[in-house]
Amino acid sequence: MTHATDLVPLELPSDPTGWSDWLRSRCDDNLDLVRTRVADLKRQPPSEPHAVLSGWNDIMAVLRSASSVAGLMSQVHPEEEIRTQAEAAQQETSRLSTDVSLDRELYDLLSRVDASTLDAGADKVLSDTLRDIRRAGVDKDESTRTRLRAISDEETLLEQEFSKGIRDSVLEVSLDPSQLGGLPLDFVAGHPTGDDGRVIVTTDYPDAYPFLSFAADAAARRDVMLAFNNRAWPQNDAVLTQLLALRAEHARLLGFDGWPDYDAEIKMIGRGAAIAAFIDEIATAAEESGRRDRAVLLDRLKVDHPEATDIDRADTTYYAEVVRRERFDVDAQQVRTYFDFAKVRAGLLDVTGRLFGLSYTLVPGATTWHEDVAAYDVHAEGGLLGRIYLDLHPREGKYKHAAQFDLVAGMRGRQLPEGALVCNFPRGLMEHRDVVTLFHEFGHLVHHVLAGRHDWSRFSGVATEWDFVEAPSQLLEEWAWHSDVLRTFATDESGEPIPAALVDRMRAANEFGKGYQARTQMFYAAVSYWLHHRRGDDLTAQVRDLQSTYDLFPFIEGTHFHASFGHLGGYSSAYYTYMWSLVVAKDLFSAFDPADLMDTEVSHRYRDQVLAAGGSKDAADLVADFLGRPYNADAFNRWLAAAPGLAG
Ligand SMILES: [Zn+2]
Repeated sequence: MTHATDLVPLELPSDPTGWSDWLRSRCDDNLDLVRTRVADLKRQPPSEPHAVLSGWNDIMAVLRSASSVAGLMSQVHPEEEIRTQAEAAQQETSRLSTDVSLDRELYDLLSRVDASTLDAGADKVLSDTLRDIRRAGVDKDESTRTRLRAISDEETLLEQEFSKGIRDSVLEVSLDPSQLGGLPLDFVAGHPTGDDGRVIVTTDYPDAYPFLSFAADAAARRDVMLAFNNRAWPQNDAVLTQLLALRAEHARLLGFDGWPDYDAEIKMIGRGAAIAAFIDEIATAAEESGRRDRAVLLDRLKVDHPEATDIDRADTTYYAEVVRRERFDVDAQQVRTYFDFAKVRAGLLDVTGRLFGLSYTLVPGATTWHEDVAAYDVHAEGGLLGRIYLDLHPREGKYKHAAQFDLVAGMRGRQLPEGALVCNFPRGLMEHRDVVTLFHEFGHLVHHVLAGRHDWSRFSGVATEWDFVEAPSQLLEEWAWHSDVLRTFATDESGEPIPAALVDRMRAANEFGKGYQARTQMFYAAVSYWLHHRRGDDLTAQVRDLQSTYDLFPFIEGTHFHASFGHLGGYSSAYYTYMWSLVVAKDLFSAFDPADLMDTEVSHRYRDQVLAAGGSKDAADLVADFLGRPYNADAFNRWLAAAPGLAG
């Protein structure tokens, strides 16, 4: 490995005026540069094929610089004005990017390039680029292009309306105060009794999730479940019907058999029919394990309700929690004492540093966008590799979930990769699930940094197919579930490491229900696929049929789940991707020795062959390079079938 050690990370400004100027230069000025370069390339196209590609690459690199900075700052900057400025820059970037991909002259220029003289990298850039801009319809006749533009605009509006419908639909359930039995004290305190002697529980997540998990009153749980699965009904049924019809037309105009074929073309899975086959394959693999754990739930339900003959989803979350408490003896309060934030952050850096041969140096006095943010330079043998920012605590106006953002996409000899983790963890003790999230998100960040030394912007960072992107992160989660790893940093106040037996029980509790959960996931994936592939006249009836085929829990009469299934917006027919990448992650993990997860022979090979490669090859080839064979579902199926280890 050689490093261009003369490259330096960006210097960030230190005051609001500085930020505004800096954003203008990173975004607006760069967008002007894109316009100039596009015009230059069209006016004087180089005769040499490689030079045409280089010109295109320069345009893409600058466009990406603008979009990375705007995307991150719109989510994290503490000053509202700066966030607003970044949002405007983001919209401008996305408009320009659409214009470039629909530019017929650029398309003609690229399609005339003689690919036979190109090396493998340039050849892949060319064929991927041509495919992507054809997918926008650039090579269609004028009237088709007009219609495609109109469809795209309409789809965007309908997607926004669909998700707004879900956000705005907050239903209320009126309950007797006694029906809060079983819920944590802070939940009860947050739901005071009204003048009418009733308490209100809403369908918002902070209400509905704890309620379905802990409320002991079965009738109240059923009422909340009914309300939850009637959000955005009936209005979203009509919105969805229109959206599905437009997507079908969209795909047909581009010459595809249907939307799933169009959407799958640029993913690992490749074809729509392969989604249907994958769903059935996983459903079969999950059958036995799912029925085994489902029987445990039903048995436990019968202890409380001897007359019960079946269990549905108004009761499953609650009884899964009961079973976890009773059979696995995991006390979340005790677990937390081992996960002090500062020790966890240090442990994460130590573990991933050893795994990937990296060292992270805190940059003293580095300017960041907020005092909570820590900047680290990432070194590998041979020199500076990039810079990362850890922005891990909540604050007002900040992004609410957990995600990795790019700041700079690295390019060999031009710019160092830089990225940020943006999360919302507490400052003191963490829940173990937060620790898992931290490892997961860090998987994206390290992928971004390690894949930051390509010549082509297109290959830089997490630039692989969308249904592979989660696999490296799902893989890294495994390190947060093994006691040999956790014991190196998870210590309580007295310095005592977390007991191995406790970690085993935590893992077993986490794995309980994995089979029936997989079946529920395949029900969702089937809704996402079949509604797009062959839409019925009555969406509720179609969803009900799919639930009886795939879920191990029966349909609840009077519910309309599809109206609030938000993933139908952004994921369209590709909800399967979560499970797909988990299958690949389990296969990748099979190359590691569970008894020695820190074996660097394997982890360095994984680093070089999968992560550092970025988007330079198809994900299937990266995985095959590492495993020495094509990926398969064997490891996943073994994991799914294994009974969760019951510890006494
Ligand atoms: Zn992720």
